[in-house]
Parts: sequence; structure tokens; C-alpha cells
Amino acid sequence: MEREFRLHWRKYVEEKGLTISKYAQYSNEYTKQRYLWLRKKVISILGGKCANCGNVDLRCLQIDHIKAVGSKRKTPYEDFKKIIKGETDNFQILCANCNAVKKHDKKEFPNMVRGN
Ligand SMILES: [Zn+2]
Repeated sequence: MEREFRLHWRKYVEEKGLTISKYAQYSNEYTKQRYLWLRKKVISILGGKCANCGNVDLRCLQIDHIKAVGSKRKTPYEDFKKIIKGETDNFQILCANCNAVKKHDKKEFPNMVRGN
């Protein structure tokens, strides 16, 4: 997986006209690109579209826990790793709208302003 990302990163850097030797200078960009690349990969593994309405716009797709896992999760990378390993049972893709509706209906956000 890391090797695959490095190939992607090398191509990205070349297309931007940067050089690999300036790697350190672009470490924030490296981290950001790695996150986006992994996110895209994981979304694709989970079907690439909102499980409720079928929206395929990557900008608004979110990785959702089918059953809430509380505050145990530290970073999105932990979920990415699980999904890449094939532990996909408790994950689905939802778009931002469907995820908001799910959270509203299940009252996952007790402080959320209700639009009654
Ligand atoms: Zn949706």
C-alpha cells in the first residue's frame, strides 16, 4: 500500500513541477495527498457511493460506522487500515446529507439544533 502511494506521490510531484529531493519541504503536502489518496481508496473499497442515495461526489462522501463506536477512534487512519485489511463489516459510505439525517434521527449529536 505504501509503495503504491509513493508511486502516486512521485507522479503528483512531477506533475506539479516539484522535485523529490525537496520532499521535506512538502511534507504537509505529502501528508495531505496521502490522506486523500487513502480516503479515495477506502471509499472505492466500500462501493464508491452513498449507501442510501447513491451520490458519487467524492467531495461529500463520508466513511460512516454503521453502529456507532463511541470515542474509541483516534484518527481516520485506524479506520482506513481496517477497511484496507478487509474488515469492512461496520463501515458504509454515506454522503454528507444522508449522514446528517442519520445522525439527526439516531440523535447521535445530543446538542444538535433540531429543525422542527
Ligand atoms: Zn446520500
